[in-house]
Amino acid sequence: MFFIMGINTRRKELTCEEPVVCAGCGQYTRYVIYMTYTVLSLFFIPVLKWNRKYYVTTRCCKRTYALDPEIGRKLAHGDPVPILPQHLTDLDVY
Ligand SMILES: [Zn+2]
Repeated sequence: MFFIMGINTRRKELTCEEPVVCAGCGQYTRYVIYMTYTVLSLFFIPVLKWNRKYYVTTRCCKRTYALDPEIGRKLAHGDPVPILPQHLTDLDVY
């Protein structure tokens, strides 16, 4: 008896069609929201997911922010929660 196991990092896009004003360049834009997670699969069936992280990228200038996990979880469930500047951590700080 042997097991086929794998651990992968996956990425899932969440949709958000709310227009927002970009904090980086001031243009009207939309966020691309996505979540990354680590998944353990056994015989190619995902059995465990952990390490979920949520990110937001702006379509205009491609800045990437880490999104508050609480907000990310709600968006992943389809709750239309607004994304406010305090929910974002700028990852492109020079
Ligand atoms: Zn921008």
